[in-house]
Amino acid sequence: MMMNVPFRVTSMLEHAERYFAKKGVTSRTMSGIRNFTYREIGERTRRLSSALKRLGVQKGERVGTLAWNHHRHLEAYFAIPGVEAVLHTINIRLSPQHVAFIINHADDQILLIDQDILPLVEHIKDQIPNVKAYILMTDEDQLPQSPLQPMYHYEKLLETGDPDFEFPQNVDENDPVGMCFSSATTGNPKGVTYTHRSTVLHSMLLGLADCGAVSESDVCMPVVPMFHVNAWGLPYAATWFGSKQVMPGPQFTPKLLAELIEMEKVTVTAGVPTIWMGLLREFEQKNYETSSLRAVLCGGSAAPKGMIRAFQEKHNIPFMHAYGMTETSPLVISTRLKSYQIDLDDEAKLDIKAKQGYVVPGVEMRVLGANGDVKWDGNEMGELLLRSNWIADEYYNDDRTEGTFVDGWLHTGDVVTVDEEGFVKIVDRTKDLIKSGGEWISSVDLENAIMAHQDVFEASVIAIPHPEWQERPLACVVLKEEAKDKVTKEEILDYLKPQFVKWWIPDDIVFLDEIPKTSVGKFLKRTLRDQLKDHYMT
Ligand code: ADP
Repeated sequence: MMMNVPFRVTSMLEHAERYFAKKGVTSRTMSGIRNFTYREIGERTRRLSSALKRLGVQKGERVGTLAWNHHRHLEAYFAIPGVEAVLHTINIRLSPQHVAFIINHADDQILLIDQDILPLVEHIKDQIPNVKAYILMTDEDQLPQSPLQPMYHYEKLLETGDPDFEFPQNVDENDPVGMCFSSATTGNPKGVTYTHRSTVLHSMLLGLADCGAVSESDVCMPVVPMFHVNAWGLPYAATWFGSKQVMPGPQFTPKLLAELIEMEKVTVTAGVPTIWMGLLREFEQKNYETSSLRAVLCGGSAAPKGMIRAFQEKHNIPFMHAYGMTETSPLVISTRLKSYQIDLDDEAKLDIKAKQGYVVPGVEMRVLGANGDVKWDGNEMGELLLRSNWIADEYYNDDRTEGTFVDGWLHTGDVVTVDEEGFVKIVDRTKDLIKSGGEWISSVDLENAIMAHQDVFEASVIAIPHPEWQERPLACVVLKEEAKDKVTKEEILDYLKPQFVKWWIPDDIVFLDEIPKTSVGKFLKRTLRDQLKDHYMT
């Protein structure tokens, strides 16, 4: 028999303090760029834990953060589990009503808030009566006037904290440490609770050579917000493995990201496709030194093939497509060529990289179609079901658990195909599939094809009610600045025709200035569908 040492989130920080004391975090805050070693981060985290304890935080209670990616947020990632409380990273881009809803649903006792987010919390103050105290993460010396009371100054709280605070060692690895809400496109957001065990196992996964390969020699810049599935677990993994971390802070622009990549010699970065489209546009305007980059991790929605091509062929930057959900910690599927696929021609390799990939070790999948498990032929569609030790088995106090978590499997609501090699391709979210005359059309395939057009910046394809066919595709297209008023609908439709069967071609194209986005930067198809619902009826 073997030892059974409980997995513990704070052990990851202890490891960094001991073995990587000279390395650490470059953090962009409201007042500029600052550097902290892991020794300093460790000490500050211990001070924060002891201060939280003094403020009365109890085991199992939720402490919320409303914050961007910076060193203080990283400290909270460890300090809150460090008092056996639960870190609730609040998505500050949700509507104020949803922010209030999740604070109440999680029953957050204390909120840690970035200074520029204060107005949002002040706005909802009367709707969150159970919050007992506020901690302002600010670079200023003094606290501003605020109706939120009692309010504490983060740095002053740290000054009074204990630098030698000991994190509890004998924790139950199945105790909760974190909580995130998925930005449900309908209804209220749904909460997921992570445990010590799931968090440590998922962090370990990010170090596997085929799944991110985060290591000591990396300079890791999570662009995905720390409130979006814990920045996909990167802050935990990077701390544990001793990578240098670069935190881009509040309100960054593509220019700022490009400068950070160049200045800090970033090797790994992660974010949603809309971030990378912005970065590509910046690269088109100015030359940056990006040779340090060994991986751009992209997930959250499908990475268009044209974008992957531009990163790899134009800028020589390796691109890695991954798939996950709030419910799955998130990494469960990632794409990487198998060794015997390396000699395929470039186009075939790009086709593989544009798929989401195959399940990572430790994750099992099934794909259920109308007649049971689908054939792995790259053609038959079905719903993706997953199970793993880092996948939730329920929503937090929510009756939507039923129907999503069934017989030990998470029903993802994503419709996929699987090819002979096991590569999964997300065809659509169930609710975004276009049902035309009883057949299914993938909006994702169409929009990826349109986004590969040289004059197109963004495109979203939606299902619109149709008098004859039930639904038909409509393409919403944003042209690049220089192509506006020059490119016609017909040109784009002609470009699509050789690539798809006739009945897949959208009946119409509308040109927009911008595609509305969700709080985490995904195309907000619901808004487009509402705005354009009568397009084919009139
Ligand atoms: P929400 O978008 O509801 O806030 P998540 O961030 O958890 O919640 O998103 C999970 C969903 O995002 C998945 O179910 C899937 O539809 C989509 N998704 C995630 N990664 C990818 C990817 N690489 N390609 C296509 N879709 C993806």
